[in-house]
Amino acid sequence: MFEIVFRYDAERCRATHMPACAADACRRLEDGNRDFAHLFDTVPLVRGSVRRLVPFDPRDLGFTEIEGMAPKQHPFAIVLGCSDARVPTELIFNKWCNELFVVRVAGNVLGADTLGSIDYAVSQLRESVKLMVVLGHSGCGAVTAAVDVFLKPAQYLAFATSHPLRTIIDRVVVVVRGAARALELAHGADVSHQVGYRRALIEITVAMNAALTAHTLAQELRRSPGTAPIATVYGVYDLATRRVNVPGMVQTSGGEAEVSLQAPPADIDAFAALARRLAGTDGVRMVLAAA
Ligand SMILES: [Zn+2]
Repeated sequence: MFEIVFRYDAERCRATHMPACAADACRRLEDGNRDFAHLFDTVPLVRGSVRRLVPFDPRDLGFTEIEGMAPKQHPFAIVLGCSDARVPTELIFNKWCNELFVVRVAGNVLGADTLGSIDYAVSQLRESVKLMVVLGHSGCGAVTAAVDVFLKPAQYLAFATSHPLRTIIDRVVVVVRGAARALELAHGADVSHQVGYRRALIEITVAMNAALTAHTLAQELRRSPGTAPIATVYGVYDLATRRVNVPGMVQTSGGEAEVSLQAPPADIDAFAALARRLAGTDGVRMVLAAA
């Protein structure tokens, strides 16, 4: 049996332990995801019960000294993630309410509304916000749709009647082209004939799409008037391992993928290097060869 227990401990009130800087905020998210992943790693091994304690501050639910007074909003990170129901942001980072300012949209792409929400957090919550995170995930439906449009352009007709949906697909298709080029460079011009080509294309596009969005956001945030730039990182949540990292960018420890968030590529050369790295991982080689 597994229990996730929210506990208020007056001695260890979270509000007094807000991250002091971007590195602290990043570490807190990585530690939270590691805890989340480890908890469920033990599922096949445990016969008794396992309890996970999540500390929280009741003031974040409105239990304030003055009855009826709303709690002050003070997230330490902004997270732009996909709307996918399998990727609940606070849960996978082991976080409680009022810790993350979450914006979710299919394919974690940037549009005017998305950017507006982030701009709001940056301008109004700057006192507490230390980090901007873009989170993609494996098996993303929006990325899969864009890959299928790239492989079979006729499928674009399925989205022809929906301008909003086309807007999302169009943004990701650009990244799919880059992923396809990286696969060609790494595995030869006939890579598209390999059985796992579509799946490999999806995997690489997911990571590159998150990296591109993080890069674009970092540029946008740098342009925000009157505020110091907020550090921006990105990662990919793996639905199978429950861990957030960037494939090919981390060392594995003890045979398991290490949790980590990464800074986005700074320029076009860095993007090309990332694409080559993603296309050359053992994971992609296995996917390409898998039936
Ligand atoms: Zn998705």
